[in-house]
Amino acid sequence: MDQPTPQPDPSGSEAQPVVVCARCGTQSPGGAPPTWTCSVENGTREYFCVECARANLRAIEGRLDSSWW
Ligand SMILES: [Zn+2]
Repeated sequence: MDQPTPQPDPSGSEAQPVVVCARCGTQSPGGAPPTWTCSVENGTREYFCVECARANLRAIEGRLDSSWW
């Protein structure tokens, strides 16, 4: 089966999705760790790992758009 556009299946076996850091691409299977930061950009939920969240803390607090990264 070739699926060019795989989509999450709400009835799938995976209870928790794989969360990917929006900055460095680090993957965290089983959902975002509590240490990760969730930021909503233009209605899209993005996660950042500990290192990236720390690096972008000023940007997030400054309410800057993430497009400049
Ligand atoms: Zn990261």
